[in-house]
Amino acid sequence: MGQSGVLYLVATPIGNRGDISARAREILAAAGVVAAEDTRHSGRLLRDLGLERPLVSLHEHNERARAAELVARLKAGESVALVSDAGTPLVSDPGFPLVRAAVAAGIAVVPVPGPCAAIAALSASGLPVERFCFEGFLPARAAARRQRLAELAAEPRTLVLYEAPHRLAASLEDLAAALGADRRACIARELTKVHESFYRGGLGELADRARSDPDLKRGESVIVVEGAPAAAGGATRLDETLAVLLRHLPPSAAAAVAAELTGARRNDAYARALEMAEKPARESP
Ligand code: SAM
Repeated sequence: MGQSGVLYLVATPIGNRGDISARAREILAAAGVVAAEDTRHSGRLLRDLGLERPLVSLHEHNERARAAELVARLKAGESVALVSDAGTPLVSDPGFPLVRAAVAAGIAVVPVPGPCAAIAALSASGLPVERFCFEGFLPARAAARRQRLAELAAEPRTLVLYEAPHRLAASLEDLAAALGADRRACIARELTKVHESFYRGGLGELADRARSDPDLKRGESVIVVEGAPAAAGGATRLDETLAVLLRHLPPSAAAAVAAELTGARRNDAYARALEMAEKPARESP
């Protein structure tokens, strides 16, 4: 059997066409086929780059069937470049079934990194970046959405969310209600485009602004929210959580769960779990 082709995941601009990388252009130019979320949209990008490549669609409604077809072409030696409408494929975009099938078939999967709205927004947000949590789109259904927000309220890492323009104000209101009106946030709107703008403030203030300022509802936005402050009495909370978990789990597992629940560092939780697990043994007669 001949050599398999390579599946390239090619990031494309999120607005400014100048953000296409030289490597992305090279890979697209040499691809046997370009799999695109919207072939008309990506056809225009290829034309602007002076390229003409065969295109096939791969979107949320056909991606499972298409994955099998493309893996067969990859196995036959053809190279495939996957692109989405904007930014990095698979990041709140189609492609995961294809990548999973390619990995399972032993095909080389090569990322060609570039624009991603989440990372661009995060980097300019002015909020802590060392640890962050990408949440994509909040669930559309009210109950699922409330549940997700309740889960996120105590998350200590910076949160990054995508949202559609017509839902931005409602999402900010829900976030303010669940995480607190004073929690600091940044809306990064129209990144890399002419009207790129950043709105920074408390979630309550930003929700009011989104309701009253028509500009904010126009165009695409990323919401970045500061993580929850370390709970007052964090050490007490860690001890209480570990005390319950250690009745059912060994120290390492109890520490992992407690760290996630309280926001404590995993090493600290583990050290404390070992101390607490040893104590009763030493105290018993
Ligand atoms: N794969 C893309 C990426 O890497 O960023 C994201 C695709 S997702 C379907 C679309 C969402 O990304 C939008 O609803 C918006 O939240 C965000 N987004 C995309 N382009 C943007 C831009 N230029 N400015 C701000 N947000 C953007």
